[in-house]
Amino acid sequence: SAATLSQIGLAGLAVMGQNLALNIAEKGFPISVYNRTVTKVDETVDRAHREGGLPLFGQHNPKDFVLSLKRPRSVIILVKAGAPVDQTIAALSEYMEPGDTIIDGGNEWYENTERRISEVSQKGLLYLGMGVSGGEDGARNGPSLMPGGSHRAYLNIHHILDKVAAQVDDGPCVTYIGEGGSGNFVKMVHNGIEYGDMQLISEAYDVLKNVGGLGNEELAAIFDDWNRGELESFLIEITADIFKVEDEEAGVGYLVDKILDKTGMKGTGKWTVQQAAELSIAAPTIAASLDSRYMSGLKEEREAAAEIFKKEGLKEEIINNVAAVDKKKLIDDVRQALYASKICSYAQGMNLLRSKSVEKGWGLNLGELARIWKGGCIIRAVFLDRIKQAYLRNPGLPNLLVDPEFAREMVQRQAAWRRVVGLAIQKGISVPGMSASLQYFDTYRRSSLPANLVQAQRDYFGAHTYERIDRPGSYHTEWSKLA
Ligand code: NAP
Repeated sequence: SAATLSQIGLAGLAVMGQNLALNIAEKGFPISVYNRTVTKVDETVDRAHREGGLPLFGQHNPKDFVLSLKRPRSVIILVKAGAPVDQTIAALSEYMEPGDTIIDGGNEWYENTERRISEVSQKGLLYLGMGVSGGEDGARNGPSLMPGGSHRAYLNIHHILDKVAAQVDDGPCVTYIGEGGSGNFVKMVHNGIEYGDMQLISEAYDVLKNVGGLGNEELAAIFDDWNRGELESFLIEITADIFKVEDEEAGVGYLVDKILDKTGMKGTGKWTVQQAAELSIAAPTIAASLDSRYMSGLKEEREAAAEIFKKEGLKEEIINNVAAVDKKKLIDDVRQALYASKICSYAQGMNLLRSKSVEKGWGLNLGELARIWKGGCIIRAVFLDRIKQAYLRNPGLPNLLVDPEFAREMVQRQAAWRRVVGLAIQKGISVPGMSASLQYFDTYRRSSLPANLVQAQRDYFGAHTYERIDRPGSYHTEWSKLA
């Protein structure tokens, strides 16, 4: 009977799906769940019992699953991105009816979502591509949700999403993002920004450890302290925790020091950099973060290179006077350098979003995106409220850096920032993210660049012409004849 039908369904019960389903049930929305491998269905039902008898109902085949849902049906899919999503849609849509909705919550390439929107529309089905951030814990206790696609489909479930999402001072961390694949695109850029934040934090760690000579206890205390100020954020908080964990496996030392320095990745950072290039948007901090992951993967090559350069007399870290470093000043400088570098990275991500929004006609509201990232997601941070405010003050802001408040903050921090980057360069410690951010700042804030010379060269060898600063029109010069 209709009384026993679930309000929503979720297919794909790995880490994300299982936790999101329990979250939805806990908020009081009866939910049906399904997974290709049915043992995971029973496992999820068991968990729902153990976690307080939540209204979650397991189904062992696509037909029973779809038919257990109240119409118009809404089904969230959380399976591996790519072909598994197509296969899951094929299995479920057979039993779905016009007006029903499929919501893909995976890290999907936005064009796949746009293709599926048009494919399922032939059956009268609605579609949302919904970015979900916050990992396992976010899914269970409140993620940041970025649904894009059919607005009607969003209206059907927004009362559920509002309760399931993380809650912050100015509301739930969910908003309708826009048409098409915009939800997936925004989640992709979120991940690119996440790459930047993680890289910048790792550079702060490198400088403090290798220039300042700080140990893990001190680092934990510093990051705990930073987490009480302008840098307060999830990533700073977990970094402080990481420095406290001892190595249980070996029984001696700290775990972080035993971890192989090779970074994994799943592709959203690469997509972000590719999109930035496609749209002619400079995103050097995010690109430097991606490059750093690639170079971290060359562990054996780096070890061999270190040997070769050592034979030539170049030590790995050119540090000879750790004792001479004013630790307190260094720590404060690094804090300021990290903050300023972060602002540049967010400026790049936001400009990429705006550019794509213009290309696709998505009408993205950048301030609202900053708001829904304030809670639930991996980049959640107090400072996102300042970004929200900046776009509220001026929705047409060309770059975060020229918002009056951020501009003032950059000027206040630039001396410390230059000291940190300069010191790192002197000592041979690579800081690709911090220096990319500083170069971005220095390039953007200068009214004159040496691009006049590049234009002259282009005109010299390719007759590409140039414009003049003192009169209109385009010019070509026979340079070699005049030289
Ligand atoms: P996952 O490891 O990406 O995928 C495993 C799930 O996909 C299982 O339910 C599996 O079913 C199903 N699956 C794989 N191939 C299938 C196929 N051909 N047909 C039907 N089902 C298939 O799971 P996840 O880590 O929970 O992530 C789910 C999505 O959320 C991904 O897009 C991921 O990128 C995204 N995401 C993950 C995180 C995270 O922290 N893990 C955070 C944000 C977003 P079986 O059990 O039958 O194999």
